[in-house]
Amino acid sequence: MSSIKKEIVPTMAEMMAWTTKIFNQGIRRPGYPADYAIEDWVKNQFEFFGLENIILDPIPVKKWEYYDANLRIWLVDNPDNLIDIPCFPIPYTNPIKDLEGELCMISDEFPLSGKIGVMDLNLFNLPLKLLKSLPGADRYYDPNNEFDYLTQIVPFDFKMRAFLDPPVENNITGFIGILSGYPWETDKYYVPYDAVERKISGVYVSGINGKVISKLLEKGKVMAKISYNSRISEVISHNITGTLQGMSDEWIIIGTHHDGPWNSAVEDASGMALVLAQAKYWSQIPKEQRPFNLMFLMNCAHMAGGEGARAFVEKNKELLKKTIVAIHLEHVARDVKNEDGKLIPLDDPTVRWWFVSRILPLEDIVEDAIKKEDLKRSILLPPDGFPPGSDKPPTDGSFYHLEGIPFVSFLAAPPYLFDPGDTLDKIHQESYEPITRAVIHIINALKEYTASELRSLVLNKKERQKIRKNMK
Ligand SMILES: [Zn+2]
Repeated sequence: MSSIKKEIVPTMAEMMAWTTKIFNQGIRRPGYPADYAIEDWVKNQFEFFGLENIILDPIPVKKWEYYDANLRIWLVDNPDNLIDIPCFPIPYTNPIKDLEGELCMISDEFPLSGKIGVMDLNLFNLPLKLLKSLPGADRYYDPNNEFDYLTQIVPFDFKMRAFLDPPVENNITGFIGILSGYPWETDKYYVPYDAVERKISGVYVSGINGKVISKLLEKGKVMAKISYNSRISEVISHNITGTLQGMSDEWIIIGTHHDGPWNSAVEDASGMALVLAQAKYWSQIPKEQRPFNLMFLMNCAHMAGGEGARAFVEKNKELLKKTIVAIHLEHVARDVKNEDGKLIPLDDPTVRWWFVSRILPLEDIVEDAIKKEDLKRSILLPPDGFPPGSDKPPTDGSFYHLEGIPFVSFLAAPPYLFDPGDTLDKIHQESYEPITRAVIHIINALKEYTASELRSLVLNKKERQKIRKNMK
């Protein structure tokens, strides 16, 4: 294995400068001005590094905008006392003018017959003990044995979906999600981002504001009026690629997405910094020392149904046949704690998930790189089965997996991922250089393989389980 040229690995300071530039541009939702500006900037960076064949491939995406949102509630017995509650419209839901109805707390009972459903939302608490007990999650690097007691809060509430896509018998006319279980005070939750246009109308309110609603409900019958303006339009966003030629006609793809829900430092300015670091590093390695071609990808529209990654896989089938591994890099996240409704950054990184195709030598390579760079709190996860029942990873890596392309998808899922609280202080910047070196280790180690060799080593669940059992 050839070694790393440490002196040309981009520094933490340089990577933070890129991150800051991206963050300061503004809200990078698909189709927003800041995302277009960052597309141009990425193109310039690629040119500056000397990448070849730089392409901005136009992709139609669904842009979501909202203008204003109002929620007013009152007791039926006291109609003169109108209370305005700050709220945030749920992305891609149906805009509405003066939706009036009685409020009803959603329990497990259906139907709610023509009422506006109110629901307390919680973020899911995931004990690491549980995560590492999942089938196929038997490889991790946890030198301080933190996984025995650590619980991570992931940015999802799995109950909510049922109410956004209500069954016919669940007759709610509108939806209010109270972010009561969130560890900080917010109503700005940019979920769902699947770009599915929903018939239902709904808003989020913060935990403290939600208490006003639930207290009023204890006093009697409560009415509400919801209004918000929003628009979904089809616009063109771009997948940006640039390449470096190597000594074979096979490829490694190193990618991430360039859009985000807010200014979003971790999601995904940090992933972009990781890809830029790879582009800069490899552009300084002579062609003779690059055993294969490298493609650097910044895809669009992760926050609009993953359309950019889906389109990239769809449009590049021939290239992907000759791809040894697709490496997708997202979210260099810092752990946080809650203090008086505020997020306080901590010293440690958020637990790092590494989704890897079920190929033992590829798992070996990834685990080895993690250990070499002392990337604690790392766990390798199988390409399916997380979340339980899923046939693909919850990342842009899913599109490669479903096409049978070997992949490594790095991701951390801190609780603030879809919130404007994802600011520069949430980046675990001291991880920037070690993760960059780890990815270089992975690429160097792949020199031993061709695309067809690696594909021939894919195992099914049972085969892998059997081999791993015998290894222990
Ligand atoms: Zn991301």
